[in-house]
Amino acid sequence: MSQYDGELEDIINRANTGNVAGIVSIGIDVSSSLANITIARRFSCVKATVGIHPHDADKVTDRELADLIELARAHQDEVVAVGEIGLDYFKAYSKPEIQRDVFRKQLRIAKQLDLPVVIHDRDAHQDCFTIVKEEGPFPRGGIMHCFTGALHWARRFIDENFALSVGGITTFPNAKTVREIATHIPLQSLLLETDGPFLAPVPYRGKRNEPAYLVEIAALVAKLRNISIATLAHATTRNAQRIFNCRFTAPSEETS
Ligand SMILES: [Zn+2]
Repeated sequence: MSQYDGELEDIINRANTGNVAGIVSIGIDVSSSLANITIARRFSCVKATVGIHPHDADKVTDRELADLIELARAHQDEVVAVGEIGLDYFKAYSKPEIQRDVFRKQLRIAKQLDLPVVIHDRDAHQDCFTIVKEEGPFPRGGIMHCFTGALHWARRFIDENFALSVGGITTFPNAKTVREIATHIPLQSLLLETDGPFLAPVPYRGKRNEPAYLVEIAALVAKLRNISIATLAHATTRNAQRIFNCRFTAPSEETS
């Protein structure tokens, strides 16, 4: 996103210095998906997703959906998932029925490409779940990103082979529901994310978010689960590598 213009190298260096082993940079339309691939080709710790966000569902053309398939096929070393795709009934920038149609089409693209999916679900848990159920099963699974639904919804998605990723909201004092998920879902179903440039964790709340801040989220989630940050970091890195079928080289390994 433009919030990072001209600072990419610094941002990735800060992430590596802060022990962030891997970054999955998320596409929200064709041009950002392509930009992600370019970043992933340049930095070995970055992987890319390709997808069209539900906010843009109204404008999506068949040509753009075909472009996603072409990008994923042409850049198999970089593209690790289709996303973010899904439903957003909170902002509802696009008509819900069109969002559902574009979501289904991209779920089918993921299956066709044999890739996992990254799903954006805001205030649309029932429809998201129904569509995942109808379009599934998804042997490659996927991630419900920045999931803010109740724990019982989280468990239903886990039963469909999905993992949950939690971000900066976890560090907000009133984030009861998200903290419940971060505390109670199985460790093998948990990932950490920034959702940068948005949702910076405490103590950076309100500022531009970036991958180095992930450490703040890790510290809070480790405390909630009563495990060490190292144990959590090891598990979430392993989960990301399993789901995205890739290897992230820890910064210390890369330099040795
Ligand atoms: Zn999202």
